[in-house]
Amino acid sequence: MTKPIDVVSLYPKDMNIYGDSGNVLVVRRRLELHGYEPRVHAYNQGDDWPEHADVILGGGGQDTGQKKIIDDLFRRAGLLRSLADDGVPMLMICGLYQLFGEYFETIDGSRLDGIGVIGAYTVGQNVRMIGNLVEHSDEFGDVIGYENHSGQTFLREGVKPFGRVDREGCGNNGEDHTEGARVRNVIGTYMHGSLLPKNPAVADFLIRTAVERRYGSFEELGSDADRAELARLDAVAANARRVAAS
Ligand code: GLN
Repeated sequence: MTKPIDVVSLYPKDMNIYGDSGNVLVVRRRLELHGYEPRVHAYNQGDDWPEHADVILGGGGQDTGQKKIIDDLFRRAGLLRSLADDGVPMLMICGLYQLFGEYFETIDGSRLDGIGVIGAYTVGQNVRMIGNLVEHSDEFGDVIGYENHSGQTFLREGVKPFGRVDREGCGNNGEDHTEGARVRNVIGTYMHGSLLPKNPAVADFLIRTAVERRYGSFEELGSDADRAELARLDAVAANARRVAAS
């Protein structure tokens, strides 16, 4: 009997730059290799919300993309907040990370309210923070990616960052060495890359948490060939991390 896992891809039409949809492909592929049946639902403005959501993935976008989706995001804000409170694993990159915070004040002075899942606020500035990003996370080790944002994000007191930037990149604001945020099982981060192909431990955290919530426990259900393929993918990613972090 197959065990489905419902993956929601949030606003892929307007919030998907620097290959962020690659994160969805990785979760889908690794779910298959772990022996589960991925069901991917693309959710764009005006769509019906899928019946089931085990894991939710959102990407980055220009300020204009953020303005396009904001009304719909507020239509779903209560639902997303309660799913986050219930421990649903989520990964929100850059533009959606900002909108999962309290607000984003853009460089032209307009203010977009966020849905407040993450205790953080973002203020636009003239200088863009662009380049490779290497950070350390206690939970995931070295995490590598690429950032490109003008918004400076500041975490409220007590909010845990996703990682610390000590070697390369700006992170949340270029000032306090924090990068991203972690609230329950929600990860917000500026890491494009896309993130998950190079950092499979993060993908497996999302997958394991989704499976445990739905089925009570996580079991490896894939074949020997599937495990070998996972090991191969992990080795490719470890090599990319070694090169980037050296
Ligand atoms: N528009 C936002 C900023 O520049 C987000 C950009 C992005 O998602 N890459 O800060």
